[in-house]
Amino acid sequence: MLFKEFALICDRLEGISGRLEMIDVVAGVLPSLDDSELPLFVRFVMGRIFPDWSPLKLGIGPNLLYEAIAAVAGIRKEAVVDAVNRTGDPGKATEELLAVKTQMSFFTESFTLSDVYREFEQMAQEEGKRSQRGKIGSVRKLLANAEPREGRYLARLLMGELRIGIGEGNVRDSIAKAFGVPATDVEHAFQANNDLGETAVLARKGPEALRSVEIGIFRPVRLMLAQQGTLGEMVADHGAVAAEFKYDGSRFQFHRKGEKVMVYSRKLEEVTNALPDVIRALLPATSHDVILDGEAVAEKDGRPMPFQFVLRRFRRKYDVESKAGEIRLVPYVFDILLRDGQTLIDLPYTERRKILEETLSDHVAPHVVSGEVKELEAFYQRALDAGHEGIMVKALQSPYSPGVRGRMWAKIKPEVDTLDLAVIGAEWGEGRRASLFGSFLLAAGDSGELVPVAKVATGISEEMLSALFEIFREKVISREGKEVRFEPGEVFEVGYSEIQASPNYPGGFTLRFPRFIRLRDDKGIGEIDTLDTIRYRYRRQQKSG
Ligand code: AMP
Repeated sequence: MLFKEFALICDRLEGISGRLEMIDVVAGVLPSLDDSELPLFVRFVMGRIFPDWSPLKLGIGPNLLYEAIAAVAGIRKEAVVDAVNRTGDPGKATEELLAVKTQMSFFTESFTLSDVYREFEQMAQEEGKRSQRGKIGSVRKLLANAEPREGRYLARLLMGELRIGIGEGNVRDSIAKAFGVPATDVEHAFQANNDLGETAVLARKGPEALRSVEIGIFRPVRLMLAQQGTLGEMVADHGAVAAEFKYDGSRFQFHRKGEKVMVYSRKLEEVTNALPDVIRALLPATSHDVILDGEAVAEKDGRPMPFQFVLRRFRRKYDVESKAGEIRLVPYVFDILLRDGQTLIDLPYTERRKILEETLSDHVAPHVVSGEVKELEAFYQRALDAGHEGIMVKALQSPYSPGVRGRMWAKIKPEVDTLDLAVIGAEWGEGRRASLFGSFLLAAGDSGELVPVAKVATGISEEMLSALFEIFREKVISREGKEVRFEPGEVFEVGYSEIQASPNYPGGFTLRFPRFIRLRDDKGIGEIDTLDTIRYRYRRQQKSG
């Protein structure tokens, strides 16, 4: 398939708001693709290039893209930044600039999906000092040969977000429809192999091929997630349940085969080298080949440290050992997904727990099992007294469902009204904070758009401010005066005293006394709260006030 045709399909999808119609369009295209281009199409249409489990990352930031656009369009980089600011979208900006490009190329090549993918792969493999130049060269080559519409989607792909509103669920259903297989089989394969692209190829072979997919060591599995819940509901729904502390650390997935170990983060990035202490703790605790799921907590002299210490360690690539000396990351393991080649995710919690206890001699997170709300409440109180955020309550009969935020795992914590919002910009701080971002602009979701709703500056410690600066400095896509905009991707949990109607915000609402609670490193911007939720809470507040 030519990339030109892909761009045309995306353009069509962008104009469709109905889910079913979108599925029809994608399902109509899939059967015509061969086995080499089918996975590429499936991933590209979701704005992804490599499978989620793959260690390959493009490593291209907005600045590099703007430089390449400037070179191809024969203008200054500042003009590209202006266009991005004006349109709010690197894709639209690229399209406009390519339409008027002065550096006309007479012989443009038509790229296929495979050509484009090969170029991406090469970019991802560029390493070392000269890698930036090589990457710019590749982006220039692609853009110089692109028609304006192709440019729109190339730029968005490079930034990791296609903005056509087709998520994983829709693509899964499109695959099922295209090849006449049950969506549940597609889901199973996807949960195990963590790549809808490869899953589409298996779907063409039939349901058997999908059902026989197993999880594999060194291919990270998406994590099972939790919903907010109450003890009463959980006991009413499931009877006896298991309760564990809810640790305030960072999720990790530990893979071991023989002496080889890999550790992955919540977002499935490889963080092995950042966590020597976690590995030192777990290696002697088992002699089996395993995939384990747990939370790493920062501790100093046996006492838990705030979350930002964990965050720093997870993102740190250098000087790990000296940092590891001061503050230790201690693993608490609460699940096992695979042992000695046997996939365990379909077993109920109770059986996995038993295997976990037999497999790991240390670092298993303690738990209680009970059907008595009173007993669970006592455990909850113990958790809060010990300084934990709350507890996690898990249904005993539940399998491990990768990537699912369902009702089988519930987090129980003190009731506070909070929202999870996308961080889309910031203002430079003042005084002592002048070299850091001081306040952050937050947005809620609204039919795939990000709508600004608040600025938050309160509740962020000095330590956290500099940790956040390290993260966000690489995400700046534009600057104007004291304000910067970020490529959206990170999520903040914020508290507030009430929701206010406000003409100053495009969604019509803002938060009174917003305060930072934490960086949600477990959530992507597809999972943020919506303007609808804010409207709903506003109405509820009007009624009760
Ligand atoms: P939340 O971040 O509030 O949505 O809670 C879910 C997160 O809590 C998970 O993604 C884990 O990182 C973390 N967590 C802490 N303790 C546990 C536990 N015992 N079981 C599962 N997740 C846990």
